[in-house]
Amino acid sequence: MRESVDPRWAQLKGRSWDCSSCGETHLGLFDLGCARPDFWQDSEQPLPNSAIAGSTHCLTEDFCVLDKQHYFIRCVLRLPLIGAPEECLGFGVWSTLSEKNFGKYIETFDSGEQEDLGPWFGWLSNRLKGYPDTLNLKCRVHPQSGRQRPWLELEPTDHLLAKESREGITYERLINIYAAYGHSVGPAQDGDD
Ligand SMILES: [Zn+2]
Repeated sequence: MRESVDPRWAQLKGRSWDCSSCGETHLGLFDLGCARPDFWQDSEQPLPNSAIAGSTHCLTEDFCVLDKQHYFIRCVLRLPLIGAPEECLGFGVWSTLSEKNFGKYIETFDSGEQEDLGPWFGWLSNRLKGYPDTLNLKCRVHPQSGRQRPWLELEPTDHLLAKESREGITYERLINIYAAYGHSVGPAQDGDD
């Protein structure tokens, strides 16, 4: 085997842990997400997706139009876990789309049949913490069927995020990334619940 299994992933996955940074109790490994593209400066909370109809400036859970000029959708970037085959840390992030592709995406969203639409060109529209600047990294957007958010494939450069999306992250990197987002994975807790 090229890669040995890191038992810490299974330990993390199997427990709930009290986070000394945010004060919440987390269950195992959880995904991180950005509620809006970084270009969206208004403070309102995301609206239900239905609010996109006919709107020229709005943020919903999955769509964003900025001044009838810039179009974004919410996607998932997956970082494989080194030493935990077939598992990933998911990052909810936003990508731009052309107006035309954005229109197609919205049109077919409720059908749940979208896997044949892409891949589409996009620009990553969030600055992720724990990385050199990630805003406007080039990516390919892969729409999915079954109401799953599109997954993002980053241009295969040597940017750390692109590299980690191809090669994976170590357990130590996960701890760093969580820390950058205000979560502290403490030492494993003894005793059974
Ligand atoms: Zn936390």
